[in-house]
Amino acid sequence: MEKRRVAILGSTGSIGRQALDVIRQHRDMFEVELLTANNSADLLISQAIEFDANNVIICNQQKYRQVADALEPHYIKVFAGMQSVCDLVQGSNIDIVLTSMVGFSGLESTIAAVKAGKTIALANKETLVAAGQIVMNMATEHRSRILPVDSEHSAIFQCLMGSAGADIEKIHLTASGGPFRTWEREAIAKATREQALNHPNWSMGSKITIDSATMMNKGLEIIEARWLFGTPGEKINVVVHPESIIHSMVEYADGSVIAQMGHPDMREAIQFAFSYPYRLPLDNRKLNFAELGRLTFSAPDTEKFPALKLAYEALEKGGNMPCIMNAANEAAVSAFLDGRIGFYDITDTVSSCMESVEFIGAPDIDAVFGTNEAALAAAAQHINKISR
Ligand code: MG
Repeated sequence: MEKRRVAILGSTGSIGRQALDVIRQHRDMFEVELLTANNSADLLISQAIEFDANNVIICNQQKYRQVADALEPHYIKVFAGMQSVCDLVQGSNIDIVLTSMVGFSGLESTIAAVKAGKTIALANKETLVAAGQIVMNMATEHRSRILPVDSEHSAIFQCLMGSAGADIEKIHLTASGGPFRTWEREAIAKATREQALNHPNWSMGSKITIDSATMMNKGLEIIEARWLFGTPGEKINVVVHPESIIHSMVEYADGSVIAQMGHPDMREAIQFAFSYPYRLPLDNRKLNFAELGRLTFSAPDTEKFPALKLAYEALEKGGNMPCIMNAANEAAVSAFLDGRIGFYDITDTVSSCMESVEFIGAPDIDAVFGTNEAALAAAAQHINKISR
């Protein structure tokens, strides 16, 4: 394998840090070209020095001086602002772009990388939820390969590798069920921020952890799978699998089901997107089936977790509806994390915005950005009305 030059957008977040751990184990295979962060200047500085990055971007302009002064003696170039991310990500010195920013804010720079024909290691699922059709068309046009980093989608991608060209009969998307899987609806309604942030299996950032508690994360993943694999919603089945050992499965016309397994560790999916189609060693925990003993499965409870229903609805409606859902969810999760609204207010806000924000059947990219703004505003209004 020829050495690959990597850009990590969002290097100080959970995925970004795990990606650097992958690179730390394979310094002869991967080179860090570009690191970007929103606010975490200190960590960004130490990462840039350790991996001898070529370029670094701190999105928060106010922290530019601090980062630039610290990296000047190391001859590392420092830039500020979101526009710099869109510019530098297109550089000819970059092979792979890991998109590990949080939420809709990742869309602009992902589009820039796709247009430059880069290989995208996609960790920012909101990009495909908000603008799936547009981004996939762009990827085809600019010959940009999009490789999934989401563990479920990496699993599906790997399950498909053995049956090239065969039609997918069904995707079985596994879900841990989150921290409230066994709780009663009345108890979930009173859940606190701390309880919702306590995910049983995966260690992740706060936005995605709340999404896991509401199961909106699985809703977003249904839509992400639709665009990555061209599979319509009715062929995507969610199954609750609390052990998170099977990361997802593909069923074929003959009834044969292929699963991909491992202990929950995001580095596995990150590394495979970086090294594809090759496989490299990794210092992760290996499966011991005799020790595992059994794996369990159940159907999701959509009364307790209405986010799943909303996502199927948004996908079926199409157009800008998934974008509305995503924006309202981002606003509501942030309000929940701030203690302004209760747990079920998150999905109530989403549902209200899906009814009130103007529907557009075939949005272009400007309409996607406009929808995001409109849905954020509608969500803010709804949250103000109900917040305590
Ligand atoms: Mg996932």
